[in-house]
Amino acid sequence: MERLIPILFLIACPVVSQAARSITLDVSFPYYQERSDESIVEEIRANDFGDIRLISAKPPLVEAFKEANIQTWLLTFMNGAYSTAGLPDGWKNWQMKLSKPAKPDGFTYFCCNNPAYRKWKRDQLVEALSASEYYGVDLVEPYFPGYPDPTADIYGCLCDHCVAAFKKMYPEMKGPPDFSDPKSPRYWKTDKALYERWVGFRVASVVSYLDEIVNGAEGIRDKCPKIKISTWSLAVDIPNQIAKLRESEGLDAAAIVKRVKPDMHVVQTHWPDWMKPGLSAKYPLKYKPVVDSIKEVTPLLPIMLQADIGSRVEMRRSRSWLNDLEKRAREAGFESVTSYEYSIGNYMYTEAPKVVKVEAEPDGLKLVFNKRLDATTASNLSNYSVNTGRVDYAKVDGNTVRLSISGADGEIEVTISGLTDDESRRLYHDKPARKIEDNTRVSLTEELDE
Ligand SMILES: [Zn+2]
Repeated sequence: MERLIPILFLIACPVVSQAARSITLDVSFPYYQERSDESIVEEIRANDFGDIRLISAKPPLVEAFKEANIQTWLLTFMNGAYSTAGLPDGWKNWQMKLSKPAKPDGFTYFCCNNPAYRKWKRDQLVEALSASEYYGVDLVEPYFPGYPDPTADIYGCLCDHCVAAFKKMYPEMKGPPDFSDPKSPRYWKTDKALYERWVGFRVASVVSYLDEIVNGAEGIRDKCPKIKISTWSLAVDIPNQIAKLRESEGLDAAAIVKRVKPDMHVVQTHWPDWMKPGLSAKYPLKYKPVVDSIKEVTPLLPIMLQADIGSRVEMRRSRSWLNDLEKRAREAGFESVTSYEYSIGNYMYTEAPKVVKVEAEPDGLKLVFNKRLDATTASNLSNYSVNTGRVDYAKVDGNTVRLSISGADGEIEVTISGLTDDESRRLYHDKPARKIEDNTRVSLTEELDE
């Protein structure tokens, strides 16, 4: 057996695996509507992504990504929902109790200390993961809201379940801190010992919630043992961020990975950072304390950075920014980056349509573009001319066009003008549609013409 060791060492050593480039797709966005699943997969592949985090996807799209050998993760929000449609009766009882009345912002917070919500979330995840061939699951935003501290507009949770759980954990305490009355003996700013225990209680709640969903009886590993687990937490560019994240959201990345033992961990960019219009692509280096805290307890765990590339008009990120970000993330100890969300990056507003692949079809050619096309210009036959034969029709599906060509003799060359991308499918409408370069000429490429 001893002689095997150097051989195994040699085999193990040169394999330096480069993680596939990742992107997040929220398929409830207009960009993904009214086109085939195949065209979505084709576009993501044409843009060189091998790892997909999917929001709101239906099983056929998951299957289509799997067939294309693209790793597909189910991305799910752990502390609430953007839509309450379809939730079972009683969901209103799951809501967090916030210290101030919540302003309606489209998100309903649910409390992880509510046993009914915990069970529903576990069963619903197991069901979704059993129904489709996902590679893994992203357990996103498991936290309590409250940045930067209890003075936040949204701070929770103070529901009966949390109060009872806190008293059970600290029977010597009379109850949670008082967050509103400075004269109270339990006021959070004056009774520091009580507040410290409260912070620890919120951290412990998040960790035990994730642990039960992942490792508990009838949880994900019990019911879906092949599914890879990805836990998530936040990072933010402020001094002493590890202590501050414990205080504000009850998040402690090291405590999560130590207990839950995920297959990977994702560090999500917090809103005070992603909202900055001029955010430097070097910012992953500011997250190194969080990365180091994870590596200290799980040195080999792959860590991914999550970035936002265009939720607001003023912070849409370019492709070169994203490339730079990936480089800086690796310098900070991340293995890879995923971004929210593919269709909202600045490139969608600035890049012209381009043909990236030409394939032979029984009756003509299939043109694959880098992005979604405007169906009117792309189906207009006068925008195509051929060196031989004639174009009978152009069928548009997302980023692909099937040209039916009759009477051709020899290799077909297509000249394209006038096509635009689909401006109406973008998140914001402040930039004109982009047009393909006039007289773009394409033919079957050598590698594909077999
Ligand atoms: Zn609660």
